[in-house]
Amino acid sequence: MKRELTPDQLRDFRKRLLDWYRRHRRILPWRRTRDPYAIWVSEVMLQQTQVKTVIPYYRRFLGRFPDLAALAHAPLQEVLKVWEGLGYYTRVRNLHRAAQRLVRENGGALPAAYEQWKQLPGVGEYIAAAISSIAFQQPCAVVDGNVKRVLSRLFLCDEPVNRSPSSGVFGSLADQLLDRDKPGDHNQAMMELGATVCRPRRPLCPRCPVRGYCRAFREGVQGRYPVRLARTALPEVSVAVGVVHREGRVLITQRREKGLLGGLWEFPGGKIQPNESPAQACRREIHEEVGLVVEVGTRIARIKHAYSHFKVMLQVFSCRYLRGKVRLKGPVNFQWVWPEELENYPFPAANRKFLPLIQQSWERFFGPDDGPGGDE
Ligand code: SF4
Repeated sequence: MKRELTPDQLRDFRKRLLDWYRRHRRILPWRRTRDPYAIWVSEVMLQQTQVKTVIPYYRRFLGRFPDLAALAHAPLQEVLKVWEGLGYYTRVRNLHRAAQRLVRENGGALPAAYEQWKQLPGVGEYIAAAISSIAFQQPCAVVDGNVKRVLSRLFLCDEPVNRSPSSGVFGSLADQLLDRDKPGDHNQAMMELGATVCRPRRPLCPRCPVRGYCRAFREGVQGRYPVRLARTALPEVSVAVGVVHREGRVLITQRREKGLLGGLWEFPGGKIQPNESPAQACRREIHEEVGLVVEVGTRIARIKHAYSHFKVMLQVFSCRYLRGKVRLKGPVNFQWVWPEELENYPFPAANRKFLPLIQQSWERFFGPDDGPGGDE
């Protein structure tokens, strides 16, 4: 299938796209700035997250860390707290590390070139192309999920969008279309077209500025594109979690910085084995993970949560501290905190769902007293 457009067609395509974008683009906070740092923050947040979810986080993040130096000098805990709830925490740990590296090694200056951006932690092809084109007008074509969908329909491209790297066939197609005089606006226009007109279901073709170039529209097969490989079902993990109460405080532990949910705080617990009840698993996991002996009370909550590669079912119990000294195996830190202090710590979304239930469930099951003192 021929996929090249003539120079005249390319000129016309780019002009139609750009005229449409200038008239119809959404007013978004990161489109009002030329500050590369702010654009970088927005692009990191927008990976795997919808625009309407990102907007309040973007404002809060820039309010607290208005420039690279402010971010680089902030403790990771504080950065995680501001990011809390946005998910995919590796993104913000990498952003923080990259900011520190730029302050340490580059005098706090942001690079302009695509290749330099790609040297930074967490910056892949998409982010490097987006920042270098939008903030520095470098001629780099951006390929995200929205752009792949548009390209797939424009050119009847059978390459599965969920298996194809940005640099593959979609990268070549995007590069062909790129307006090298206005790469930032062109890239944003392609993404905007995918987000608002060439939608995954029921694309709004009559409003599309480039429908004259769209083969899917011409043949009436928009619904067959983009091609996707079927997803395998996510495995589900059952986990028991204990909120251990001692003299009015509860025990929280901190995950190590590397890996899933790194640096966040949580309550001790772990996988339920096939031969044990959730309550037995809770008691065993707490003993193995933090070295404490506890009495397991009634269940506070059952929480379902989906991560990118698995689903988890948390069964959460109120527990009474009986004896032992905290000895960490797995977590890197722990704190006994008052329930009202939990707000100050960054928790994963699944843990946040049951935080409001902690105090009332303790009083319901064990009474409003302070609980045993123990020997720690
Ligand atoms: Fe997408 Fe329809 Fe435009 Fe083709 S004509 S690019 S299917 S919105």
